Amino acid sequence: MEKDVFCKIIDGEIPCYKLYEDADVLAFLDISQVTKGHALVIPKKHYDNFLSIPQEEMHKVMDVAQRIGQVAIKLLGARGVNILTNCYEAAGQTVKHFHVHVIPRYEGNEGFILEMKNNSEGLNLPAIAKEIKKEL
Ligand code: AMP
Repeated sequence: MEKDVFCKIIDGEIPCYKLYEDADVLAFLDISQVTKGHALVIPKKHYDNFLSIPQEEMHKVMDVAQRIGQVAIKLLGARGVNILTNCYEAAGQTVKHFHVHVIPRYEGNEGFILEMKNNSEGLNLPAIAKEIKKEL
């Protein structure tokens, strides 16, 4: 199977603007900066996405994402931060190696627009909740 681009970065085959590294986690700037400081945090071991990474390793990735978000507020002058991870193509995942986007938010024109429209008309919320709760 061909290595994904993030495995290549971990193995030093592709360069990156590294922000943080330890034994398990790597963080670097996203090559397409949707806002200034847009970062990606990944586990060094390959997992396809957030839904398939073991909890302990997921926590290590999220710890680093939290720290980078805090730094964006403290040092970059961001007024907010979006922490985002896409799972599977249907949700916009293009690189099949678990990664967390840390997207600092500033005033004014930005390359990132998040819109959540209320689409609940006709949905049976008690039935949906019952279905999901079965497996939790
Ligand atoms: P997603 O759509 O959630 O899978 O996001 C994948 C992200 O990886 C995109 O925002 C890309 O800009 C970013 N990306 C792809 N290749 C590289 C690379 N070589 N270095 C840094 N970021 C990359």
